[in-house]
Amino acid sequence: MAKDYYAPMHTTEHILNRTMVRKFNCDRSFSNHIERKKSKCDYVFSRDLTEDEITDIEYKVNKEIAKNHSVTEDFITIEEASRKFNLNRLPDPDIEKVRVVHIGNYDSCLCIGEHVPNTKFIEEKFKIISTSFDNNVLRIRFKLRN
Ligand SMILES: [Zn+2]
Repeated sequence: MAKDYYAPMHTTEHILNRTMVRKFNCDRSFSNHIERKKSKCDYVFSRDLTEDEITDIEYKVNKEIAKNHSVTEDFITIEEASRKFNLNRLPDPDIEKVRVVHIGNYDSCLCIGEHVPNTKFIEEKFKIISTSFDNNVLRIRFKLRN
C-alpha cells in the first residue's frame, strides 16, 4: 500500500456510520468513496443536516477516535450474520463465513476493507467539509486534518 491514508479514513467511516445510526436511527451509508483528501458517505435520509447536527457528529466521532478503541475482527457464518446484520451488500452469496470488524464496543459491522489496529492511529481530527441533500440521499463529505 502506498501512503497509508485509506485505513484511517475507512476506519473513521465505520465510526461515522455508527454515529449516524445512533443519532438518527437511519441505516449505515449505502455508498462510500474514500480518498486521500476527502471522502464521502451517502445515506438514505429525509433532509439535509443542520449546523448543530454537523457540529455534534464531528464531536462524537472525534470523541470515539480519542478513546483508543482496539479494532478487531471475527469470522462468523452467513447464518449468524444474517441474524445480526444487514446482508444487502454482501459481495458473494456463496461464501460461508464473513468478517465482522469491531471498533471497541462502539461499532460492529461486516467489512472486507483495511483498518487501523487501534483508533489511536487515526492521528488527525475528523471534519465534515459539507453536506448536501438530493432525492432522499444525504451526502456527507469529510476529511481528516490536523
Ligand atoms: Zn471496514
